[in-house]
Amino acid sequence: MSGVRQTWRIEISGTVQGVGFRPFVHRTANALGLDGWVRNVDGHVVAAAAGPRDAPERFLARCRDEAPPLAVVGTVTVGRLDTTDPHGIAPGSGFVVLESTAGAATGPVRQVPADAAPCADCLREVLTPGDRRYRYPFINCTACGPRATVITGLPYDRACTTMGAFTLCTACAQEYADPADRRFHAEPLACPRCGPRISWWAPEAAYGGEEAMSAAADAVRGGAWWLSKGWAVISWCATPPTRPPWPPYGAVSVAPTSLLP
Ligand SMILES: [Zn+2]
Ligand SMILES: [Zn+2]
Repeated sequence: MSGVRQTWRIEISGTVQGVGFRPFVHRTANALGLDGWVRNVDGHVVAAAAGPRDAPERFLARCRDEAPPLAVVGTVTVGRLDTTDPHGIAPGSGFVVLESTAGAATGPVRQVPADAAPCADCLREVLTPGDRRYRYPFINCTACGPRATVITGLPYDRACTTMGAFTLCTACAQEYADPADRRFHAEPLACPRCGPRISWWAPEAAYGGEEAMSAAADAVRGGAWWLSKGWAVISWCATPPTRPPWPPYGAVSVAPTSLLP
């Protein structure tokens, strides 16, 4: 009876957007040889999976139990796929990520994920000379990077983030479209060629990239202090014992958190 084909429609709520959930579902479905699709709908994820008798069930179990680290799987609803669905699943059609839809806005509460610190893979890249994101401060992937800071609406797509203003370069676009790449559908995807860049404006000149970093470090070594605006926070930078001459924004943390080269 293993040849009996089953088709399931699976709806998953919780923190499942902006956490690499669609790429994870895509990888899992392909590993099980399923046909179907996954998409963001409003604030949750909907998938349809078709395959031999027990494959959809194993797929469901893995979606629940092996979700990406940043995901929090909430309610899982399983049902039949509407036979009038325009994305009906033909045997051998493969598994794809479909375009997001707005949904009915009456479903489960939408949960926006928090920003996440760089993952081990991104840290390795950012510290590797020759890597195309070497020392690039806006590095991210499906396992890390900005989320709540850049999201302007759901479903979670690049167009619904502040990164929508940055058009992907060819190399980034290839990563974004490659199911085998960990940046597959990483919505805030960026690199030095196509993403945001750091800048330093001095009275005599403006600098970018490494020159900006060096100029900022030189200024601090010379006793100056400065503010930097990043993904989520404004940081104050100085060398001890210099302290900020205010707090203009209420409580301000002055604990040293990082060192410039
Ligand atoms: Zn990462
Ligand atoms: Zn790029």
